[in-house]
Amino acid sequence: MTIPLEDGANPFANFSEKVNAECYRPNAELGNFDALSFNLGPTLAAWLEGHDPSTYQRIVEADRRNQAAHGVGNALAQAYNHTILPLAARRDKETQIVWGVADFRHRFGHQPLGMWLPEMAVDQETLEVLASQGVAFTILSPHQARGQLDGAGPYRVRLPRGREVAIFFRDEALSNRLAFDPELTNSAKDFTENFLSGGEGLCLIAIDGETFGHHHRGGERFLHDLLYEEAAGVGHEVTLLARYLQEHPPVAEVEIVDGTSWSCGHGVARWREGCTCTQGDSSWKCHLRAALDRLAQDIDALYQDEVERWVADPWQLRNDYIRVVLGEIEGRAFLAQQADGKLTEGEAKRILTLLEAQYYRQAMYTSCGFFFEDLSRLEPRYVIAYAAKATSLVREATGISLEEGFKRDLRLAASWITDQTGEDIYEEVMSNEATS
Ligand SMILES: [Zn+2]
Repeated sequence: MTIPLEDGANPFANFSEKVNAECYRPNAELGNFDALSFNLGPTLAAWLEGHDPSTYQRIVEADRRNQAAHGVGNALAQAYNHTILPLAARRDKETQIVWGVADFRHRFGHQPLGMWLPEMAVDQETLEVLASQGVAFTILSPHQARGQLDGAGPYRVRLPRGREVAIFFRDEALSNRLAFDPELTNSAKDFTENFLSGGEGLCLIAIDGETFGHHHRGGERFLHDLLYEEAAGVGHEVTLLARYLQEHPPVAEVEIVDGTSWSCGHGVARWREGCTCTQGDSSWKCHLRAALDRLAQDIDALYQDEVERWVADPWQLRNDYIRVVLGEIEGRAFLAQQADGKLTEGEAKRILTLLEAQYYRQAMYTSCGFFFEDLSRLEPRYVIAYAAKATSLVREATGISLEEGFKRDLRLAASWITDQTGEDIYEEVMSNEATS
């Protein structure tokens, strides 16, 4: 059983407090993290580390105990900014996955075997990058596979250059039932008797971890009873994905369908042009995305121009910059290691500022900005604020302003509820910034 912990909608302190009190803390106190596979996204992990260190420690130690007992842990890594990877260029996929692996190593002290893909959004290129970074497996839904499956797997996806990655497939019907029917978490005994008795091979339930205690009240008790008592009562052994993979290397092969996700049958349209799963006119989504893509291109061109004078591979430098973000090395010392020749104070500052701009340019693609129905909500506002921050850092480093072009593109995105445009929101963000 695996319980990925989504942190996609998580920049809000009060919301985090509430979810922590209802879900993470009680589940950690009950020892539930020891007995399931989970991922703790970087944003949420950093929040927990700062706001509830004892819960954070309990979660990290759950993985360490499994690592010590079985040689493999039960935590999974996550792509760094909760980006919809099939919509990202290869270079951005690499940064997201390299940063996600680095953040995991920093927290859990070992290489992750599994990685959770935000919204289970996948394409072949994403799997290639996973394999190139030493990630052994991920989890998908059966509708993301080509053809019929026979059980949860793991299955092998063959990749170029002799690489491969293993895929576990969740039980979609059972997972969705548990996620969307609060009644089911009333009794672990009833649940196992009704849904888990009989059946052979691996049964994989993969859902948002916040189901247990936050979405479904009391779900943490249900989970504890299920993992530590009731599952065994109907003849199931509770296992961890990394252990199961060790004991059952994939035999069958599978091909995946590019541009699919777990949230709906519209592929990744929900985060691009919108789909019928959200209310109202979602045409703001494609305009917002186009504005971000154009801005990203401009930021990257300026970054590359400046940085390649000093460093052979600016994109490798960006990937390695996560060490500075994680506080493993100070910025100046990092550059001294990476640059050819000695940088002046001013040159070093310029490069570090451009790297910081790249950090926010990655953050602006966080999936929650595109998930909901309207542009006037808080989540798209965060996305625009990240973009604004990246833009102002670029101006600080190069003296070049990308603001006018970005505002022109944002003007095309409009809220169907308030009529506000992306430009209006940008202006609001900037005036809040100026007064705060
Ligand atoms: Zn949809």
